[in-house]
Amino acid sequence: MNVNPYVFEEQIKTLLAAGYTFVTAKDLGDILDGKMSLPQKPIVLTFDDGHWDLDTSVLPILKKYNIHVTAYIVPGFIGTNSDSLTPTQLQDIIKSGLVDVGAHTVHHAYLK
Ligand SMILES: [Zn+2]
Repeated sequence: MNVNPYVFEEQIKTLLAAGYTFVTAKDLGDILDGKMSLPQKPIVLTFDDGHWDLDTSVLPILKKYNIHVTAYIVPGFIGTNSDSLTPTQLQDIIKSGLVDVGAHTVHHAYLK
């Protein structure tokens, strides 16, 4: 659920050293559709909801190691509370080209 940024970076370094290749959820779809080849030791890393530290803590590490991930953002949360990304932060994340954004319902609906 939560990880210290230092520990997160160590986890990324460990996965890279072990030969894992980060693919996004979209890449996984392309692999399953035969549009992209499956790398050795693929791993999909996802982030939930769109918390502010995706921009301030995670993105710098993604940039440092050129890691591609998927973030499932709740658009109804953007800019509405102190725990969520601002619109500017979300644009920063998208412009990085390292984060694919997926849907997570508009208001984090309980779908069960
Ligand atoms: Zn969620």
